[in-house]
Amino acid sequence: MTRVDSLDRLRAEVCDCRRCPRLVAWREQVAEEKRAAYRDQEYWGRPVPGFGDPAARIVVLGLAPAAHGANRTGRVFTGDRSGDWLFRAMHRAGLANQPTSVSIDDGLALDDVWVTAAVKCAPPANAPLPDERDECRPFLRRELALLGDVRVVVCLGAFAYEAACSYFGVRPRPRFGHLVEVAVTGGPTLVCSFHPSQQNTFTGRLTEPMLDAVFERAVVLAGGARGAARPTAPKRPSNPSNPSNPSRPARRPR
Ligand code: SF4
Repeated sequence: MTRVDSLDRLRAEVCDCRRCPRLVAWREQVAEEKRAAYRDQEYWGRPVPGFGDPAARIVVLGLAPAAHGANRTGRVFTGDRSGDWLFRAMHRAGLANQPTSVSIDDGLALDDVWVTAAVKCAPPANAPLPDERDECRPFLRRELALLGDVRVVVCLGAFAYEAACSYFGVRPRPRFGHLVEVAVTGGPTLVCSFHPSQQNTFTGRLTEPMLDAVFERAVVLAGGARGAARPTAPKRPSNPSNPSNPSRPARRPR
C-alpha cells in the first residue's frame, strides 16, 4: 500500500471515529445549533483529519478543530481567524498557493507542508480532557509515522508541543516558548510557536513577523525552499468513502 493509500485509509478511520462521547456530543451539538452568521451552512460536525502534501518535510501541528471553523468546514484551520493568520504566513513562506483558507473547495494547495491537530474533534472551550487527548493520540502517531519525510514539526501552542514531545520521546521536555527548538535525536526538529489564536493575536502576544520567523526557520531546517506552492488543486489523497469529493468523506447520518 502506498503512503497516499495509507493516509486515505487513516483519513476515513478518523472521520468515522466516535470514541469520545463528550466530544461527539459537543461537535454534533455545535453543528446542529450553529453560529448565527453560518446558519445557512451545513456544518461538518465530525472529526477533522490532517491535510496537505503527503511528501511534506514540514508538519504544522495544532491543538484541535475550532467549533465554528474546522468543525464547520471539515478542513483543519479553515474558516476561522487562526487559519487566516496561519495560511497568510505559510503563503508568505512559499508553502501555500494562496493566503486564505475559507472552505474545503477554495483551491488551497500546500507544498512541502502537512497541517493537522493533536485532537481531531472540536472540544468545548478548546480544551480536550486528558483521556480524550490520550484516546486520540494513536491517530496522530499513525499520521506522523506515515509522513515519512518530516524534518520539522511546527508546534502551535504548548498542547501541540507536548503531543509532539510524547510521540518523539523527548525527555526531559524543554520549557515551551516562541521559537524554542528541540532537535530530536534521529528525528525532526520541533519548532515552537505561540498559537495564532485570537487571544494571542488580538493582544499582540503573537505578531505576523513573529509567525513569519517561525516559518522562515522551519524552511531552513527542512533544507531550504523546495519550490512555490502550485496554483492547482491540493495534493490531497483521494477519498474512497466519497469519490465525488476527494477532501470530504461521505457524511455520516446522525
Ligand atoms: S477526539 Fe479523536 S479519538 Fe476522540 S472521537 Fe474524536 S477522532 Fe475519535
